[in-house]
Amino acid sequence: MGVSMQFQILAGEPCLDFVNTLDNRATPGHETELLENYSALTEWAAQAGLISVRQRRALLGLANSHPEQAQLVLRSAIKLRECLYRAFLRIVSDQSPAPADLALLGAYVASSYSHLRVLPADGIFRLDWSAPAQRLDSVLWPVVKSAGELLTSEDLERVRQCDVNTCRWFFVDRSKNHSRRWCDMKVCGNRVKARKFYGRSRKQASSRGQSRSEA
Ligand SMILES: [Zn+2]
Repeated sequence: MGVSMQFQILAGEPCLDFVNTLDNRATPGHETELLENYSALTEWAAQAGLISVRQRRALLGLANSHPEQAQLVLRSAIKLRECLYRAFLRIVSDQSPAPADLALLGAYVASSYSHLRVLPADGIFRLDWSAPAQRLDSVLWPVVKSAGELLTSEDLERVRQCDVNTCRWFFVDRSKNHSRRWCDMKVCGNRVKARKFYGRSRKQASSRGQSRSEA
């Protein structure tokens, strides 16, 4: 299973948390791949609440007996992620995604949604995935669904990138007055506040120095 890692799930939409799994995008040459292997991909999906622990265990068992196929799914996952990155990057700057990226996403939607079924659930029905534990790529289906739903919802206008230049993680701003600026207050918000505080106290110190010399 490898060493389990802790992912930051904070974007408010799985597809954006997924985009954030290539860290340090804003510093070319220093990008950090958080999805190093199929196991990491399933770990992320479990932490994002997209698959159950039980489902993850089944997928890892499947990946163990089909390592090459698992590698292909990982490659497909990265391809999807970069497609979403390019699309959302254009959206946050009020541009339409490139037609090629919409077409690629469309292909992922078609193959993912082909696994949706209407299943009985306690006398009523639910829309759910068919046999996800038996398909290595099932880990991507809910990511694709999330992307399709976000792109067609009013929340699309609320997609933002973190204000911190070295971060630039994506998230949906669902704050009451639409004023969320950071991916995470604890991480990036405090970093900016600390910088502002030190900047201000330096300014105050220098203006005090000035008035003293004037006097
Ligand atoms: Zn941030």
